[in-house]
Amino acid sequence: MKREKSEQLFIEAEKYIPGGVNSPVRAFKSVEMAPVFIDHGKGAKIYDVDGNEYTDYICSWGPLILGHASPVYFDGIQEALQKGTSFGAPTAIEVEVAKLITEAYPSMELVRMVSSGTEATMSALRVARGFTGRNKIIKFEGCYHGHADGLLVKSGSGTLTFGVPTSSGVTPGTAQDTLVATYNDLDSVKALFNENPGEIAAVIVEPVAGNMGVVPPDLDFMKGLREITKAAGTVLIFDEVITGFRLAYGGAQEVLEITPDMTTLGKIIGGGMPVGAYGGRRDIMETVAPLGGVYQAGTLSGNPIAMKMGLNTLTYLRDHPEVYQEMEEKAKLLEAGFKANIEKTGVKAQMVRFKGMTCCFFTDVPIDGYAAVMTADTKAYTKYFKSMLDAGNLMPPAQFEGIFLSAAHTKADIEKTIADHYQALKELV
Ligand code: PLP
Repeated sequence: MKREKSEQLFIEAEKYIPGGVNSPVRAFKSVEMAPVFIDHGKGAKIYDVDGNEYTDYICSWGPLILGHASPVYFDGIQEALQKGTSFGAPTAIEVEVAKLITEAYPSMELVRMVSSGTEATMSALRVARGFTGRNKIIKFEGCYHGHADGLLVKSGSGTLTFGVPTSSGVTPGTAQDTLVATYNDLDSVKALFNENPGEIAAVIVEPVAGNMGVVPPDLDFMKGLREITKAAGTVLIFDEVITGFRLAYGGAQEVLEITPDMTTLGKIIGGGMPVGAYGGRRDIMETVAPLGGVYQAGTLSGNPIAMKMGLNTLTYLRDHPEVYQEMEEKAKLLEAGFKANIEKTGVKAQMVRFKGMTCCFFTDVPIDGYAAVMTADTKAYTKYFKSMLDAGNLMPPAQFEGIFLSAAHTKADIEKTIADHYQALKELV
């Protein structure tokens, strides 16, 4: 497969943009090649500037649950654009989106729209601190919550991939208020609570980890988190930027039947436009300005075009609950096919799946958390990624990312990917 135009564009991009990209994972550095520059997408397919077609298993890292360029996203967008693109004043559509979100997530009695997942988690933590009057927070190693300073402490995703557990530029003062516990290990959380009595404002967690590959939660661990935080007067924040409207319409909290105090959302709620949201219990959210003293604002927050795309997406998902069953079936199909290939070829790899979220790890250590994930063979993943790409499958360009499916992926798409996976694994042995 030729990718000359992509390669040329990358050389040009590197002249003007750090690393040639506007978000590190896009550089394909972890798979040691130039990135693919995209021209357009349609349904489950994405097309690069050289005219190559791929089945897309990234789907913009989650927002595109209905696939690329679904007419659902665009319904009424022309009319919305004609009215104007930003007002810096409230509009009716923001109210509609907020209503839909609070109906889907009863734990979010009040919700504030922002422009990214990063803003959502950063703001939620500020609110939790303002509400409790405490400084410290707990996060989990391998969980990623965006790039706010206090959250770039042993985070996953790009930073994990590049082997940089913390970002430079984050002050020690900031990092010292972020305590890091081990995912799926309640004792590690208890120890931090014991060492910092009355000091922990919030625990933030991905209820299904999706940024160190996919790591399903141990249910007792999640229930334990709820109990410990409740007893300590600590705000439990579910970061559902990936899982929200993906695992189920009501997110991981609906699936796990655990009610957090606050929730952060992003990705799907913008239908491909830059949107995030945070919300939670009324008494907590009433600390947000202009009601309370926690300041948070945004010129483009609740942008009418982004809200329209989000509203279209959420309305469709609400009215088509079968999407979730179908996505899970597709994930199961992929999992079963990949598993069979792993067995047939004897490659040291395994599949992990939680509902519609799945991941192929190149390790035989059972995946229960960060330490197990880190045993994965990234060299094998790199070879595998390249074979898959050349066969027309755009997999996440790093071992520590999950596979994103959409409603647009067909059984035929997945069956072809399974066949390509078999060939890719054969090349590894
Ligand atoms: N939280 C989680 C769980 C995420 O996966 C991400 C991004 O991938 C974020 C927060 C940050 O969102 P954004 O990239 O929109 O800032």
